[in-house]
Amino acid sequence: MKKTLKERLAILSDAAKYDASCASSGAQKRNSIGGKGVGSTEGMGICHAYAPDGRCISLLKILLTNFCIYDCAYCVNRVSSNVARARFTVKEVVDLTLNFYKRNYIEGLFLSSGVIQTGDYTMEEMVRVARSLRLDHDFRGYIHLKLIPEASPELAAEAGLYADRVSINVELPRDESLAVLAPEKDATGIKKAMGRMRLHIEDRAEPARKAGRRRFATGQSTQLIVGADAARDGDILARSAALYGSYQLKRVYYSAFSPIPDSSARLPLVRPPLVREHRLYQADWLMRFYGFGIDEITAARPDGMLDLDLDPKLAWALENRAHFPVDINRAQKEMLLRVPGFGVKTVTAILNTRRYKRLALDDLARLKVSVKKVQAFIEAAGWTPLKLIDRGDLREMFKPQPQQLQLL
Ligand code: SF4
Repeated sequence: MKKTLKERLAILSDAAKYDASCASSGAQKRNSIGGKGVGSTEGMGICHAYAPDGRCISLLKILLTNFCIYDCAYCVNRVSSNVARARFTVKEVVDLTLNFYKRNYIEGLFLSSGVIQTGDYTMEEMVRVARSLRLDHDFRGYIHLKLIPEASPELAAEAGLYADRVSINVELPRDESLAVLAPEKDATGIKKAMGRMRLHIEDRAEPARKAGRRRFATGQSTQLIVGADAARDGDILARSAALYGSYQLKRVYYSAFSPIPDSSARLPLVRPPLVREHRLYQADWLMRFYGFGIDEITAARPDGMLDLDLDPKLAWALENRAHFPVDINRAQKEMLLRVPGFGVKTVTAILNTRRYKRLALDDLARLKVSVKKVQAFIEAAGWTPLKLIDRGDLREMFKPQPQQLQLL
């Protein structure tokens, strides 16, 4: 018996939950000011919201289908998996998106898919969804399309015309792991597809934006699965750095591997601790916005893993105590950025404020900095940390307190 739309929605939204690369940060906001287009609220425009970690909220996140001809060992939708299957038509996805959008349930669509028939066939179906939303319905919401790497370059380029963001999943941090766990996937083909998309974005998005014409996707992202293979955190960060450098990615997303039913014996039986994913995001941030090198971030531990107990910036500071205390009234920006507890905005505020006054701890409190957290690492007007930085128990001071589990 054919599944109802609601049943298929349940299957295909659940199947999409494994993909983390759905954030829209940095994308140009479409709007319906002037009462134009779907999403118009009489000139009020559309408000997009982002979670603090950059993940977009309120997207309809679904697969076109969870049928797949591939057999990637780590994927619940692989051809050999014993899961319920479902498929939407192009029109159904368009209607669902419009209906949810008009009811203000969502702000956009994140569409991915298993590979059916061929990469081109699947990509064409996904492009038809985006094309119909944009051209037939003047849809002004956000669209993120997952690209099928083996689809033709022309289809990928057309996807970029309608989508705000596109992504191609690298999936595993090491090409050797991909060859073993997803033998039908081609690491070289994935890189080529990302390279082509980078060129499209550079050639078309920026000139279009300057000319005020219809835009091209403003960026691409990817996802790395953490804990499905033996890659260490250092390997993962090195891969991310190469991806950012080579393809100008907006983001690399880290998704902790989820054990799946009837999985291959080559995969771990338990998922890695979620905090590992969190530490990788923190380390990724340090590389991109705080001037840290990968070696510095991973130097504290010989096994190439990040410390799960401490955030990587604090771990670096504790290993490099000779650099502290940092005088907040004299230090260079690069060194201020290395103080645990100082974010980029705080450092900018410190640099601006100290042009006309010497900063004390009270001034940091006014900047909403946790004085308790930073005082061991800084000097300020009227404040010099006593021998705190030499204390042997400094690490213990910053370790998170054990938390008792709640009774349910
Ligand atoms: S191609 Fe994608 S959907 Fe298909 S098995 Fe591989 S990861 Fe899963």
